[in-house]
Amino acid sequence: MTRTLAEVAVEAADCTKCRLAEGRTQVVFGVGNADADVMFIGEAPGFHEDKQGEPFVGAAGQLLTRMLDEVLGVAREGVYIANVIKCRPPGNRDPQEDEIESCTPWLVEQVSSIQPRVIVTLGNFATKFVLQTAQGITRMRGRTYPWHGRTVVPTFHPAAILRGGGELSRQFLEFRDDFGLVRETLATLSSETAPEPVAAPDPVIVPEAEPAPEEQLELF
Ligand code: URA
Repeated sequence: MTRTLAEVAVEAADCTKCRLAEGRTQVVFGVGNADADVMFIGEAPGFHEDKQGEPFVGAAGQLLTRMLDEVLGVAREGVYIANVIKCRPPGNRDPQEDEIESCTPWLVEQVSSIQPRVIVTLGNFATKFVLQTAQGITRMRGRTYPWHGRTVVPTFHPAAILRGGGELSRQFLEFRDDFGLVRETLATLSSETAPEPVAAPDPVIVPEAEPAPEEQLELF
């Protein structure tokens, strides 16, 4: 039987599948509406997220929350927010290949369970991982991508906006536009006939010999 998202989160809380388990305060699984139409995917927890156990709670998270409110007209609790990597890499270094591979089944289960219609990838890392592209976010953003029966909208990482000049920057306007694109995409999708829900894989993924990330992503 398919597990609920809460059951998956309980199991993930004890995860020791990679070395990041040693340095973390806690697993930062994800937060929000388990039935959300929109799911946001970032890179990995930072210092504050590791301490509080919730993704995007620092300054970048505040900008994300503000865009949700101002452009999408939805509270943070109305969407689902997660990261590709569930534990903080030491010193916020880039996640390593084997860490990504170990962590991918959790993200697969999240997407399979939530069944979001739209996935917003925040920044280069999440966009390259989800869309399996080598293109940077500046080239990828500003349009939608069909992806396993869903729509992916890539945009800048909010931390990059804060680092790059904040609200006075061109990137901020583009970031805002991308949230507008999410809003339009959702409106278009809900005006169409609701698609048949995609059956969750049975049993849910996590094969004994873990396949490469791109093979796992086929399971969405
Ligand atoms: N950056 C991310 O990519 N994720 C977080 O949760 C926080 C900062």
